[in-house]
Amino acid sequence: MILHSILLGLGIRLASAGRSGEHRPPQQCRWDSGSRLRLGGEPSCVALVDDRTAAEIGSWEPWAYAPHCVYPPEQGSASKLCVYTYHSANGEAGLSLIATPEMASFVAGILSARSEPWGEFPSWQLSPGEARRAYEVVEVPGKGLGVVARRKIHRGEVIIRETPFVLGFTSDPGAAAGGEKPGLVEVAFTRLPEWHLERLSGMAVSTGGEWHEDVMRTNTFGVMVDGVEYSALFPEIARINHACRPNAFTRYSRTTLQMEIVAQQDIESDEEVTITYIPQNLLTADRQKLISRRGFTCGCPVCSTPSVASSSDANKSRINAILGTLRDLGPQRTEKILDELWQEMRQILAEESLHAQVAEFAGLWADLYWAAGAAAKAREIAGRVLAERVFYNGKDSERAERAKGFARKFEG
Ligand SMILES: [Zn+2]
Repeated sequence: MILHSILLGLGIRLASAGRSGEHRPPQQCRWDSGSRLRLGGEPSCVALVDDRTAAEIGSWEPWAYAPHCVYPPEQGSASKLCVYTYHSANGEAGLSLIATPEMASFVAGILSARSEPWGEFPSWQLSPGEARRAYEVVEVPGKGLGVVARRKIHRGEVIIRETPFVLGFTSDPGAAAGGEKPGLVEVAFTRLPEWHLERLSGMAVSTGGEWHEDVMRTNTFGVMVDGVEYSALFPEIARINHACRPNAFTRYSRTTLQMEIVAQQDIESDEEVTITYIPQNLLTADRQKLISRRGFTCGCPVCSTPSVASSSDANKSRINAILGTLRDLGPQRTEKILDELWQEMRQILAEESLHAQVAEFAGLWADLYWAAGAAAKAREIAGRVLAERVFYNGKDSERAERAKGFARKFEG
């Protein structure tokens, strides 16, 4: 299985980082810099650690090793990048981070605020007391390894919850190292606990070149950490294959750094669990282009059966037509017309497994109902936006937060 995250260029990411000459004194909180993320009410205060502070004070807590830092070739224009590795108290779980010292301090705050003891259970399993493991990683005909349900999984069930092994830049860290060897990704890997390395050794590769970086390019997801996009390597989740109408989705938590795989519909025993690697709203021609650019193939019914592909394209074109109709109607959008078009829209979204997009359109309809004087319907549907955002994006997501503010628009 092959996954490619959508990555920003290294230069873009570094542009937001501090200047290389700037060093916060140890013990200065990361949280005074405008970050609005709050954990358990109070911000965590974690000392800034880098290669310099490690040498000066002989300590690099909470990290397991002194940070391994390199400067980008253009000195002064961007912060240095360092490898930080965290080991759980029992040494069984680890996370390597390739980041600026400021970002490492932010992540250290998240690690210290995690409610469950890290490393108490293998990172890809659910906590004790949660549903028994519902799947197995097995050979799937024509696809290599895949994740297959071993019992019926109900809509909304969390199938996998995983902490990343590696979180960091993947776009040519060798360039940032100015040719220094070994590269940051290799250092990040080798500092992880032994059993992590065993698991990583079996990961898929696709692009050639340096093996550690190939593993990252092939298997990572793009996730947001403090507003910056990072590549996160979740070895178990990386086993899940793509489908254009998937039966599960990813839900990432910015406050725990964990990724969940959640069933978006009931999944039968022996059915393969799938997610989408690409935006789901593309027409067949564009979808195939993107799939081949990302270096994988898809044999799902939408891709392999021409009649399914054309009805899917017709559905997606109809979505645009409905939006066009709404635009053209302007002030003539009556409650009755809105009812009819909403019903049709819901049906198309369900047929295309565009479940996560329901919130997007529900928000639009809430505004339209409100404008048409149907206040009760506007309120009802705005409430749905919040419920959908919590389900698909997580209750600690920015989208759920925005949906709360959106629902307040229709009060009173
Ligand atoms: Zn497909």
